[in-house]
Amino acid sequence: MKRNRCLNCGRVILRLLDFGTNRDLSVNTDYCRHCLHRGQMKDLKTYKSRAVLHG
Ligand SMILES: [Zn+2]
Repeated sequence: MKRNRCLNCGRVILRLLDFGTNRDLSVNTDYCRHCLHRGQMKDLKTYKSRAVLHG
């Protein structure tokens, strides 16, 4: 089975409910619901995504 990870925070997403949502409330499998809610990215600066990208 393929594992889904949030592209922003790297969190492993196990349940459909934990995926982010687009503006039309469809599921966005690229991000978790903590980072993408209704098409809006949240708290980008608080996550260590930069460190991950450069590592
Ligand atoms: Zn996330």
